[in-house]
Amino acid sequence: MVVLAGGDLVLPNRIASGASLVIEGARIVAIEPKARIDSPGATVVETPECYIVPGFVDVHVHGVDGRDTLDEDDPLTQIASRLPRYGVTAFCPTTVACAPGALTHVLTQVGKARAERPVNSARVLPAHLESNFINPEYRGAQPAECLRLPLDSADRRAGLPPSREASADHRSLGGVGYGPPIREGDFSARDILDVIAAARPDIGIVTLAPELPGGVELVRALVSAGHHVSLGHSGASVDEAMAAIDAGARHATHLFNRMAPITHRAPGVAGAVLARNEVAAELICDGYHVHPAMSRIAIASKGVGRLMAITDGTAGSGLAVGSSARLGGRRIHVTEHAAVLDDGTLAGSTLTMDRAFRTIVTAFGFSVTEAATLCSTTPARELGLTGFGVLVEGAFADVVVLDRSFRVVRTFIDGREVYRSGAAA
Ligand SMILES: [Zn+2]
Repeated sequence: MVVLAGGDLVLPNRIASGASLVIEGARIVAIEPKARIDSPGATVVETPECYIVPGFVDVHVHGVDGRDTLDEDDPLTQIASRLPRYGVTAFCPTTVACAPGALTHVLTQVGKARAERPVNSARVLPAHLESNFINPEYRGAQPAECLRLPLDSADRRAGLPPSREASADHRSLGGVGYGPPIREGDFSARDILDVIAAARPDIGIVTLAPELPGGVELVRALVSAGHHVSLGHSGASVDEAMAAIDAGARHATHLFNRMAPITHRAPGVAGAVLARNEVAAELICDGYHVHPAMSRIAIASKGVGRLMAITDGTAGSGLAVGSSARLGGRRIHVTEHAAVLDDGTLAGSTLTMDRAFRTIVTAFGFSVTEAATLCSTTPARELGLTGFGVLVEGAFADVVVLDRSFRVVRTFIDGREVYRSGAAA
């Protein structure tokens, strides 16, 4: 038995101050109003002047501390082992658009890590693919040469790869197009869909742009295969986005980033996501990717129960300003605010979840309870994880101890301490 005694327990709708969290095995077995210091046979961890929050669930993270999910060898176990120090107890390994072989390689690691969680590591959840089916004009740091059009329904019925003509047509849209593949020879949309089908249980979220030819049909196909479809890297109009939501899309990828801007006459994807309650939206909570004022508007508009704080963290997260790392095989640089490609294109964040939590409270002005909902409760619920993301009796003991400056002091997964800061030691 482990007792976290005397901290401020951040419960679903209130904070219990000076209370105790009692853990037996992998589960929370009791929440007691007083500090239970005297517990014979139990390991008592005194946590005065600390917040006890449910472990963070990051549904969009590419890497950390110099490792990227698309690195060769086995980056996933290293990423999983590093994330608990930032309070993350479960995460969706996230990929940028890539060739089928690279995707298979990541998904094989995801399958292995899900079957057997490496020791002292965050739980590996089904992957999040920032897929090949995004709009090239909104690709951001995604490699143009890896983007493909979804199959249209006729192609799918006939089992054919997408026509070359369709790609050529789309290339003329806005003059930004689908370049020739550079690795592993040519590949088609069908090849990617085959990889997705073969690794079905290991893929949670698929981000796509519904306005592409065949986009809405792809939404339907992925939803019926059990994936969460997320709208993103998209220039869809509000009507196109609404059609995708009607077809079953229930998530939105980094709200406002790599979408057409929201305006009062042309609300676009962002407007549709804010207007439709059935969609849960990701928000990069670093105060830079989305201005704090706009972050407040989004959170107030959707409510903390429909918004998921994410990092969109890269291998540059956790590294010093001026460091270099990789994103999908391309070099990125750590700047003061974010990660950028060689040409300065914004390439994701250097955010970690503990900093996201701190930013939500100190820069966005939300309560600690609301921050815990954004960082833990809502993402866990949106992924269908029962017994996670809340401190209640019977839940899994995935727990983070934060000091008053929201720095991670200790992290527990399944009731076992997997990280302890120097300060705590
Ligand atoms: Zn991303």
